[in-house]
Amino acid sequence: MAAALIPTSPEEAASLFGEGKDVTVFGGGTILLPEIAAGRLHPTRALMLHKSGLDSLDTSGDVVRIGATTTLAALIDGTDDLLTRFAEHVGDGEVRRTATVGGNLCATPGIGAQRGDLGAPLIALGARVRSTGKGGERTEPVEDFLSGDRAGRLVLSIEYDRPNGNTACQMMRRRHAHSYAIVNVAVCETNGELRVGISGVGAMAVRARSVEQSRNPDDVLKDVEPVSDALASADYRRKMLPLLVRRALDQLESA
Ligand SMILES: Cc1cc2nc3c(=O)[nH]c(=O)nc-3n(C[C@H](O)[C@H](O)[C@H](O)COP(=O)(O)OP(=O)(O)OC[C@H]3O[C@@H](n4cnc5c(N)ncnc54)[C@H](O)[C@@H]3O)c2cc1C
Repeated sequence: MAAALIPTSPEEAASLFGEGKDVTVFGGGTILLPEIAAGRLHPTRALMLHKSGLDSLDTSGDVVRIGATTTLAALIDGTDDLLTRFAEHVGDGEVRRTATVGGNLCATPGIGAQRGDLGAPLIALGARVRSTGKGGERTEPVEDFLSGDRAGRLVLSIEYDRPNGNTACQMMRRRHAHSYAIVNVAVCETNGELRVGISGVGAMAVRARSVEQSRNPDDVLKDVEPVSDALASADYRRKMLPLLVRRALDQLESA
């Protein structure tokens, strides 16, 4: 049976996490609990974050600050921007009231579908992730966090500068309450600088730097390698992705 560690402050959470060895971090548990129930995961030490005080959401200033255990429902109620447009499509109300932003960012690859939808808007918004683990606390661009060793980090918070330019997005999923994404595209342009985030096409969200430079939607396939799953084949995603990037860029231009 797993030992439950229940920190009551962010500092205690960081201390109990240490370097993350043999610790399974629980945000809302909407990914972890089904994994445990299916017998695919056997945690030895469970770090339960629900009382850790990491659920603050500050949208009052020029920098939006989101605690790692902020639920997707709280995010939707608290902000009105690109991020919430993606959050409101994750699962259903029950899932969103439990699922956390930190858990979405650290979502492990799904078996039949892709997860981590919020990665696309967070990349487009130029978000930074504050985490702790081996080597102590650090803050880094979300795309660096995603491509690094996420398993060894405890996410504390996420922040981004409130965009003063235009944003746009395109999402493709099946018409079903619990359906996962097939393709997600988020774009943001601030002072002439374009940022493009893609999620739902592979194990984790990716920054489409080639499109940012060329503004050619077809270049997205230089940065992203779509996968096949129960929802769509890699070939279908390869066809749809440039189309949705084009639509998002057109939307941005006409905004
Ligand atoms: C019916 C249903 C529909 C869903 N639909 C979608 C969807 O459309 N799109 C989508 O993206 N997801 C979907 N999900 C998956 C999931 O609900 C979300 O990705 C959710 O945001 C995960 O957050 P969580 O807090 O529940 O994660 P958890 O299950 O608590 O954790 C997920 C992973 O992140 C790690 N983790 C959690 N918090 C932290 C932290 N602070 N620091 C470091 N690691 C951490 C955990 O150790 C684990 O590996 C769905 C799930 C269900 C059950």
